[in-house]
Amino acid sequence: MTLLLASANAEIGMALGRDLLLSGASALDVVEAVVRAVEDNAGDHTVGYGGYPNILGTVELDASVMDGTTRAAGAVAGVSACRHPFSLARAVMERLPHVMLAGAGADRFAREVGLASGDLLEPEAAATWRRGVETYHVDLGDNAPLADAVKTLVLDPEHVTGTVNVVAIDAAGRLVSGVSTSGWAWKYPGRVGDTGCLGAGNYADARYGAATCTGWGELAIRTGAARRAVQSMAGGASAGEALADVLADLPDPGMGDAVPFHMLGVRADGTYAAVSTTEVSRYAVWEPSMAAPEVRPRTQVGAP
Ligand code: ASP
Repeated sequence: MTLLLASANAEIGMALGRDLLLSGASALDVVEAVVRAVEDNAGDHTVGYGGYPNILGTVELDASVMDGTTRAAGAVAGVSACRHPFSLARAVMERLPHVMLAGAGADRFAREVGLASGDLLEPEAAATWRRGVETYHVDLGDNAPLADAVKTLVLDPEHVTGTVNVVAIDAAGRLVSGVSTSGWAWKYPGRVGDTGCLGAGNYADARYGAATCTGWGELAIRTGAARRAVQSMAGGASAGEALADVLADLPDPGMGDAVPFHMLGVRADGTYAAVSTTEVSRYAVWEPSMAAPEVRPRTQVGAP
């Protein structure tokens, strides 16, 4: 039984992921290849190179990986000089006695393992950022207060959300989940989202299943969303029941009406679900019965 399940923005890497799975690649290599394709997509302003920057104009990336078989994991947060933060998270998992690196230390580690890259700010993302700070007359001076501007700008519905989620089961039954994001556009410098937080935006345990999140990351952190969903699967819930339960119990963020929140869930037996609080969210999937990967609508479930 093999499976490749992802957020819709992973479509660009799905055929490659399918080919790798069919050629016998490990779930970890498959997830990494698909995530990297999205991180390299300059047209995706929510992941990797081309991601929207924080309010000061610096791109800060978060990513994590979890190997469900061993429950080994790696995460990075606030990376600003590495175009492939997922590979950096994998290197944390494989080469360090740690699980998570943040900020300057993560960028240092990127240099050490040959993953450092140049500026991640791409012209279109830079122009969007500039429009935002000019529209709201944001004072970018040292120690100028930023909180009020962040509160307004991060609610811009055109530019706020997006993350790549990829879950794979390989021919040997290994289950791996991976996520990568530039986080909220115009976020406060140093803000870490759920993508960098194992248990919140990403969790895998091959005995039971895996779950990943996109959308309002603070809610995933506050609820331990991915870990909670896998725990429900361990208790016998279907993937759809486990995810719906998390979405139904999200706290109200108290920041307006829109609460975009989306999850993928895979049980150890390969059954899966993709849910969203919104109408328009989609996901990508390939399983051996399909000639080609498909993009489908998620099931909309109750928003808080
Ligand atoms: N979950 C991501 C974050 O909070 C953003 C998103 O997926 O929309 O950083």
